[in-house]
Amino acid sequence: MKKVFCIGELLIDFVAENQGKDLSKAKEFSKKAGGAPANVACAISKLGGDSYFVGCVGNDPFGTFLLRILANEKVDISLAQKSDTFTTLAFVSIDADGERDFVFSRGADKELTYDSSLKTSFENNIIHFGAATALLGGSLEETYSRYLFDGLTKKAFISFDPNYRVDLWKDKEDVFIRKCHAFIEKSHLCKFSLEEAKLLSGKDNLEDACKVFHEMGTVIIVITLGSEGTLLSTSNFSKTIPSIKVTPKDTTGAGDAFIGCLLQQIAQHSKIENVLADENLLTNMVERANKAGAITTENFGAIESLPTLQQLDS
Ligand code: ATP
Repeated sequence: MKKVFCIGELLIDFVAENQGKDLSKAKEFSKKAGGAPANVACAISKLGGDSYFVGCVGNDPFGTFLLRILANEKVDISLAQKSDTFTTLAFVSIDADGERDFVFSRGADKELTYDSSLKTSFENNIIHFGAATALLGGSLEETYSRYLFDGLTKKAFISFDPNYRVDLWKDKEDVFIRKCHAFIEKSHLCKFSLEEAKLLSGKDNLEDACKVFHEMGTVIIVITLGSEGTLLSTSNFSKTIPSIKVTPKDTTGAGDAFIGCLLQQIAQHSKIENVLADENLLTNMVERANKAGAITTENFGAIESLPTLQQLDS
């Protein structure tokens, strides 16, 4: 089984409870573990995969809380770093229509430093870049580029999820697009939401969008479409694979569960070329990943809602 290294942020999401969109009126918050790459690492380990979290938290009680959650989920946290800068915090409120108010206090996540000894560990394994905060600068961004280079040198399978956050890129979408393109060009697998696919390709039609991404160099493209399932595209075929029917309560983390489940399955294959060439195999994998995404929406929260192997098989 291949190892999967998930690189990026782990942070506290303070979610305002019961007072509508206006954060200035929020009185109570619940403390949740957040960070897409960390969610993906948990999704993989919960399904029996071998996942590593590579990111930085503060040397403070919030950092301890976050790493403890990952360790409880059997994610390997030996490569995680601690900094004297405070753990990154996000405060968010969402009203009944899904309108958000968002404040972000960026801290330790940006301070991940490059570790040259990881290069050999990447050999023939999988690296997942979940770039929500990584492209905002700091030594994390520099580290991202160096690990991408190391991964390619060591023939690692590269997975990329841009994790576009509107609130973080207001008025600088062009910078986000340019930085993402550098990863899309080098990745074997890219996972986009519908919004990301359109933004990063400059196309409204998804077939056209996939063509742009394939021309840039990506081999497998998955575009997640919520209850509609997932568009899977390779240079040989393209199809929409439906999801299962569920009654969603909270869609947070569905995309992370999806990509985690897909990577956990890819990690079972010693020769990834065989996966890339096999339409049926890829289709089955995406069907299963759809199921993982769907199950995650049935409960509140991200990590706590990720499916176990038993849930997925039942
Ligand atoms: P995120 O919001 O976590 O960034 P995303 O927008 O990429 O994620 P979604 O499209 O919401 O992710 O969900 C990922 C996958 O989970 C979908 O492709 C689909 O297979 C499944 N899924 C999500 N929502 C539903 C739903 N309501 N019903 C059935 N399946 C769903």
